[in-house]
Amino acid sequence: MRVDFLSMERINAPFMPQIEETITKIAKSGRYLLGPYTKLFEDSICQAHQMPPGSVVATSNGLDSLRLIFKALIILGKLSKGDEVIVPANTYIASILPLSEMGLIPVPVEPDTTTFNIDWHKALQAITPRTKAMLIVHLYGTPCWDHLIAQSIINKNILIIEDNAQAIGARASHNGINQLPHTGTLGHAAAFSFYPTKNIGAFGDAGLVMSHIPEITSTVKALANYGSDTRYHNIFKGYNCRIDEIQAAILHIKMQQLHSITFQRTHAANLYNNAISNPLIIKPAIMPNMQQVWHQYVIRVQNRDQFRSYLAQHGITTDIHYACPPHLQPCYKGEFTTPLPITEHIANQVVSLPIASATDQEILYTASIINQWSPTS
Ligand SMILES: *Cc1c(COP(=O)(O)O)cnc(C)c1O
Repeated sequence: MRVDFLSMERINAPFMPQIEETITKIAKSGRYLLGPYTKLFEDSICQAHQMPPGSVVATSNGLDSLRLIFKALIILGKLSKGDEVIVPANTYIASILPLSEMGLIPVPVEPDTTTFNIDWHKALQAITPRTKAMLIVHLYGTPCWDHLIAQSIINKNILIIEDNAQAIGARASHNGINQLPHTGTLGHAAAFSFYPTKNIGAFGDAGLVMSHIPEITSTVKALANYGSDTRYHNIFKGYNCRIDEIQAAILHIKMQQLHSITFQRTHAANLYNNAISNPLIIKPAIMPNMQQVWHQYVIRVQNRDQFRSYLAQHGITTDIHYACPPHLQPCYKGEFTTPLPITEHIANQVVSLPIASATDQEILYTASIINQWSPTS
């Protein structure tokens, strides 16, 4: 049997008739930017997150969304050059790039090895008088949230920004509240990505900023459109970070199926967790009291290269998220001085298994091949 890590064709197939029809309509309409589909998409996101209309701005991509948030916070006087921002050490580099760009100091903190998310106790210890913000990343679709510690951090006047690129539809546990709040609504502002392979993926690049603070969304909205609040009136030196109408329309169509997309991934993760029994494999934690959305299903294994070639010999392709953490990338050489042994240890062991487009049969086959694995020395 052949199991592809990801088949975009399979993921997009159910949506194709509606998407093709809509693309043709937009192409003929002549309205390609800032039109009705951007509005429809933004409204569908607000509705899915129980946020009031106007609390989101659709953008060009996830990285730009983070740049817009941090730029807006600087313009609004909430952050300034030289401020420290706590970040997870094991995130994708796009989380950290906007900080460096704007002269903010990323302070990397090690992950909890069960959740792969930032260790909240270590984050508390990393706070200094110069800490002005914390960037949390809901890595692999697992909510990164400790309600009590987050509250105490917010009480210290530290902003919490969410990188929700991998976790659309996830819900975090919130002490004392039965209805779990969505990731993206937990902190002061959140960035989303709709890169094609994300749980909701565009046919190209797209992103979004969400915030319940109107001055953040209005500043982001202006910044994303050359810094103009009304046409040809520029209040900021802005950027062009708009979303295309075609991408917005595709995402609006896919948003109608957010629940079934999350359900399918959760079903696949449960299948893997029940079927994998090889003691050499550390399976990802299924967290009680929260809704994970399984952007990736990430196991840990020693002898990773051997394990991956063994799977490849059996027709199964896998991926690694991420083999090289930001502090070891050439562009950050010499910038991070704190040792990050847990991050480096995890980076050498993680393997992402096929989940997004795999059938039950393919998942059970993959699990049975994994169960027969042992390293040869
Ligand atoms: C995908 C991703 C980004 C960047 O999003 P783009 O749309 O590709 O710019 C940022 N952070 C995380 C955690 C991501 O997974």
